[in-house]
Formats: sequence, C-alpha cells, structure tokens
Amino acid sequence: MQRLIRCPLLKWSRVGTAKYSSVSAPQTSPQILYTGIFINNEWHKSIDGAIFPSVNPTNKQVIAEIQKGSKADVDSAVAAAREAFRLGSPWRQMDASWRGHLLHKLADLMERDRVYLASLETLDNGKPYFMSYNVDVPMAINNLRYYAGWADKIHGKVIPIDGNYFVYTRHEPVGVCAQIIPWNFPILMTAWKFGPALATGNTIVLKPAEQTSLTALYIAQLTKEAGFPAGVVNVVPGFGDAGAALVQHYDVDKVAFTGSTEIGKKIQQGSGLSNLKRTTLELGGKSPNIILSDADIKNAVESSHFGLFFNMGQCCCAGSRTFIEDKLYDEFVERSVERAKKRVVGNPFDLTTEHGPQIDEKQFNKILSMIESGKKEGASLVAGGDRFEGLSGYFIQPTIFADVQDDMKIARDEIFGPVQQLLRFKSLDEVIERANNTEYGLAAAIFSKDIDKINYIIQGLRAGTVWVNTYNVLSAQAPFGGYKMSGHGRENGEYGLQAYTEIKSVITRIPNKNS
Ligand code: NAP
Ligand code: MG
Repeated sequence: MQRLIRCPLLKWSRVGTAKYSSVSAPQTSPQILYTGIFINNEWHKSIDGAIFPSVNPTNKQVIAEIQKGSKADVDSAVAAAREAFRLGSPWRQMDASWRGHLLHKLADLMERDRVYLASLETLDNGKPYFMSYNVDVPMAINNLRYYAGWADKIHGKVIPIDGNYFVYTRHEPVGVCAQIIPWNFPILMTAWKFGPALATGNTIVLKPAEQTSLTALYIAQLTKEAGFPAGVVNVVPGFGDAGAALVQHYDVDKVAFTGSTEIGKKIQQGSGLSNLKRTTLELGGKSPNIILSDADIKNAVESSHFGLFFNMGQCCCAGSRTFIEDKLYDEFVERSVERAKKRVVGNPFDLTTEHGPQIDEKQFNKILSMIESGKKEGASLVAGGDRFEGLSGYFIQPTIFADVQDDMKIARDEIFGPVQQLLRFKSLDEVIERANNTEYGLAAAIFSKDIDKINYIIQGLRAGTVWVNTYNVLSAQAPFGGYKMSGHGRENGEYGLQAYTEIKSVITRIPNKNS
C-alpha cells in the first residue's frame, strides 16, 4: 500500500501525498440523502410525479430514484432564481465580500464531507475513489476558494473619454444562469459552474447529467447550510426535456453548458430561437499529443498514458491522437503497451484501482463499436480491444491502436473511452498541420527538450490549452476552453469571470463651473 501514483493532478490533494495509505477509507455504501428537486432552499417532488433511476455503473444496479424535473419544474426554479435576483433581495443587497465568505463556507463544508462526497461520486459515476478523493473533491474545493477570493475584487475602469465627462464601467451580474453539466466530473463541474457565477452575484439553476445527479444534489443542500439565501442556487435533475426547457426559457439570461458538440449546437440554436441568452460552451475534443524524438521517453509514455486513460478516457481534453516522431515510434508503442497492460482495472472502491467502468451502457456500446471500426479500418490492435470479462459493470480493457491513419474514424471522432491512437509523423510542419486537421481545438500537448521546436509548434497549434512535457494539468487559476467546435468562452481564472458579468458604461456630464 505504499506505491506512489504518478499523476500531476494529485498535487491538489490536501493530504499532501499520493500514497494509498494516506487516503481516508471510503464509505462503500454511502447513504443517499437527496433525490429531489432543490428550489428556494427546499426539496420538492416533480410536479408531474415522474422519476428516473440512477445506476451504479460498476454493477448496473439502480441505487436511487431521482425526481425528474420537466418544463413545469424548470419554470418554478427559474422563477425562484429570478426572485432571488430581484433588486433589493438579500442576495442583491449582500456585500461582495460576504458572497466570498459564503463560497468559502461552502468549501469548508465540502472539506468536512470529503469522504462522503468522494464515496457518493464513486458509487454514482464509477470513478476510482482514490481519484474522487484526491482529485475531484479537492480540485472542486480549490475552485470555490479561488472564486471566493475574487468576489470583492471585480471592478470596472475609469475611462477618459473626449469632453467633460466622468466615465466608469461597472461589472454587473448577468442574472439567472442555467448551467448544464456532464457526468464525467460531476462534483468538479458543479464547482466550476458555481464558483464564478456566485462570486459575481448571479443566481443559478443547475441541471446535472441524468447519469450522475447525486453529488450535485448533496452540494445543493450544502449551499443552504453555508447560508446562501433561498433561490440563489437551484438544482433541477432531469432527463430528456429539462435541458431544452432551460435553454428556451425567456427568463434565463445565460446558459453555460459542458458536454457534446452536438448538443452544444442545439443549445446555441435554442438560445438564438428564444431571447439570445449568453452562451458559453465547453464541448468535445480530439486533442493531439505530439512526441518528438528527443523527448524524455519515460515521462512521455507515462504522461500520454495518463492523458488518455485518466477517468477511463472520459475527458473532453483526452490526448486521443498521439503523434510520435518516426525515430521513436516503435519504442513508444512498445512501452505504451507495457504500461496499458499494467493498468489496474477493478472495483473503484479498492484503493489500488486505477480504472473503473464507463458511465453507462450507451457509452460502453459506443466505445466498443469504435474499437470494432478501428479493427475494420486496418489499425493494429496492440493492447486490449474488448470488454473486461469477469466484471459485471461497464468495464472496457485499456486499448491501444498503432499504425493509425488520419482518415480512420478512430482518429477523427471523439471516442470518450479508454482507446489510445498512436500515429507516426516525420516533420514539424507536417505534424502541426495534421494536429490541426480536426473540427475540435480544446487541448494539445508537446513532449520534447528542444525549446525552439516546442515554441514553433505552440504558435502553430489551434487549441485552447497546450501542455508541454505534461498532460491534464488543470487549475482554478488558468483559463480552459476551446477553439473551433470545442466551444467558446473560457472557464477558470480571471477570464472565467467574463462569462458571468455584463459591462455597464456610466457616463456623467461634469457641469462647467461658470454655466
Ligand atoms: P451530452 O449529449 O453532451 O449532453 C446531455 C445533456 O444535455 C443533458 O443534461 C441534457 O438534458 C442536455 N440536453 C440535451 N438536449 C438539449 C437541448 N436541446 N437543449 C438543452 N440541453 C439539452 O451528453 P451525453 O449524451 O451523456 O454524452 C454524449 C457525448 O458527449 C459523449 O460521448 C462525449 O463525447 C461528450 N461528452 C463531453 C463531455 C465534456 O466534458 N465536454 C462530457 C460528457 C460527454 P436533458 O436530458 O434534460 O435533455
Ligand atoms: Mg449513476
């Protein structure tokens, strides 16, 4: 139990080490306390009485029946959020510094309940508890604290326009914000959405992914305990129509969505067909990971492995096209296969497990069909390639394809699963062009020791994040988001505040003393 896990994200662990032995033991059957619709700091049943199941992907068992919010419930949540945003409401009258205090309080409560939250996440999502405890929960807490610090530091400028005027800008909250989050990082995405929206004084209706409503519902209860006034945070779980009802709602001012490009387009369209609400979209990716022949191969192989297989490949920024310079290709393939075969797959509550199940049957089948297409199109299957026999949940073997060509489906489409594509390249200009030859532009990575080559590639890549000699380093302070069809807007950092503020110019005439 003393093996160290290599993972750049583990530095967020407040236990300060990545040893299995230092992790607090999970609750393998955490009590499920909240399955309702959270509006105005109260729990409600769905208006039409509908429910839907939440499934544990490790064993396919139903673990809870969730109240299924539909249009009427969305209307009620939006009305509560609008009322909480009314001028003169406790939230609008609250000092900005106190909003920061409340966000810190929420972070404190998540720290208090870290084991429970991490356990509930693992139960509902299937991700290894070691990661939900050491990555998801602490990163979420960090994000809330980061934005808590911003709450009373958001201010405009004084601008010297022509003429005798006093001109300044105010950065005001946008209003009622709909936030639709995915199932791959439910706690973290809740924090990424709550932090900047609440720091800037907005009100929220959050809709979790139907596969993973439980942790967002628990955090909703924590916002009440932290002292957020009624109506500031509302959470409406739903399945099939709640998302569209939010996006088409005339009383919603902004929508922030993380998920597929396909639905992102519908959201942009839905906004255009209603009230032109502001949209920020964090969508898919097919991120290039470029390995030059002078790279530290040990680090490049391990980081590329982590860059793809982390979270069972269910990451929007997964390095799903690894381009390896010709000279290094064969050795890289061999070492990557060796690493993938060592990946520990199993019960996510077991602390030594690196790899759990995929989120649900739909994703499981989609990934298996992508693997079949890779085989049919002539890529060389060098590791895995099938479901993981002997486990009842949605487990897939860590899979690697070598000799992948750019026009193969596995090199073009997002797989969102544990399937690594290894491609060969010869020159820098060639690899830049091929790396950019995708509709996506979320992230990229370069492994090399040659700073000139690294800088040359960086300026050529069309991606919102470029990692150099590392992968998947995400942080509350650094902006994250996509070029092209990976979305628009940025989350995290100071840039992340822009999506949640309107800018008002105030122009005051200064009278001439003698007039
Ligand atoms: P998805 O397609 O990305 O989005 C599902 C969410 O969008 C649900 O909350 C759904 O709510 C909402 N929605 C659906 N139609 C809508 C509309 N017309 N207007 C507003 N909201 C709408 O999720 P998925 O089906 O679970 O995943 C499909 C693929 O998305 C994956 O294979 C993966 O490639 C990608 N994905 C990306 C990320 C990421 O981090 N970028 C995360 C997860 C998945 P209702 O159920 O209420 O309609
Ligand atoms: Mg679930």
